[in-house]
Parts: sequence; structure tokens; C-alpha cells
Amino acid sequence: YPLVSTSAIATYLILETSIGNKDQMTGLYARSIAFDVTDKYQRKNVMYSVVVIDINDFKDINDQYGHIEGDKVIIEFSNILKIVFDENALVCRFGGDEFLIVINDKSNNSIRQLLSQFAQFLKESKNDIVTQLKFSFGISHNNSQDFEGKIIDADNKMYEHKAKLKNYKRRKTD
Ligand code: GH3
Ligand code: MG
Repeated sequence: YPLVSTSAIATYLILETSIGNKDQMTGLYARSIAFDVTDKYQRKNVMYSVVVIDINDFKDINDQYGHIEGDKVIIEFSNILKIVFDENALVCRFGGDEFLIVINDKSNNSIRQLLSQFAQFLKESKNDIVTQLKFSFGISHNNSQDFEGKIIDADNKMYEHKAKLKNYKRRKTD
């Protein structure tokens, strides 16, 4: 397809596979969609990166403010993810407070830029709890691995990031 850009193909594949498969609470795509879409990317040789995001200490928010406020926080977090990443990306709720983004045509640097923009948007939220949120992320950038491999890679990096943030916090408060 010489005249069609990769991102147009990507967008088409997302739309084609994902209609009607959304997470009820957040309106983000359900986890299964990521497997369907990346399957097609794999077959059509569309390059993509995977970003895994997990909210830090979300249990404390439930404990402190209750589950209903907790739900609102997840919904607002998801809405901001949509605003920042929606173009040429598939934003999924992977489980509880964990999110997965499949993203095309972006350098590692521009993905990091989007993540800092996302962090900035959280700070500017009207929801006071959301302004205080911290999250950890891992990026598995375009490479030869399949989706499962990229998830593992991004997940490992996310956990490293989380460990770093938590050690730092512990040291500061010691
Ligand atoms: P960590 O920093 O290690 O990520 O710790 P955490 O407290 O964020 O805990 P973890 O990610 O392991 O678990 C997320 C928690 O989020 C578990 C569950 O109580 C809560 N949770 C999951 N889904 C929902 C939801 O839909 N609504 C609410 N209110 N809470 C949820
Ligand atoms: Mg968490």
C-alpha cells in the first residue's frame, strides 16, 4: 500500500477489530482488543510499541477515600489517557489500575514526551486526588518481539520504574 500511511492502516485495524469491545467503567478498550489488533499488526508488519502503566499506591486511595472515589479516579485517569494518546494508539484498561497502550509510528522520545504531558494533565485535573497521583510506566519500543514479549518487556521496565520511585520515597521519609 504505497499511498496509504502506516498510521492510517493502524487506525483502520483498530476500528475494524474493536467496535463494541470497551471496558464498561472507563470506556477504554478491553484487554482482548489489544491481542486482536496486535495480531493483525504482526501479520501486516505494522511496527508498534507497547506502554504499560500502573498507578502507584492505588490501594491507599481506596482505603482513604472509599471505592466510589477510587472509581472516579480511575475514570478521570482513563479520560486523560484518551485525550493524550488517542491518535494512532489503542488505549486499554488491562486490569484494575493497570493500563496498556499500543502505539504506532512514534519514537521512544516522543512516547516519553506524551507520558510527561500526561503527568502534567493529571496535575491540572479538577479532581484533587488525581492531581496527587503517581504512576509507573515501561515502554517496549518497536522491535522484533511479538506482543507477549513486548508486554513482558514493558511490564519488567514498569516494575523497575516503580521500585525506583518507591525506594526514593522511602529514603526521603526515613
Ligand atoms: P502499587 O504501587 O504496587 O501498584 O500498589 P497499589 O496499591 O496500586 O496496588 P496494585 O496495583 O497491586 O493493586 C491495585 C488495587 O486497585 C487493587 C484493588 O483494590 C484496586 N482496584 C482495582 N480495580 C479497581 C476499581 O475498578 N475500582 C477501585 N476503586 N479500586 C480498584
Ligand atoms: Mg498499582
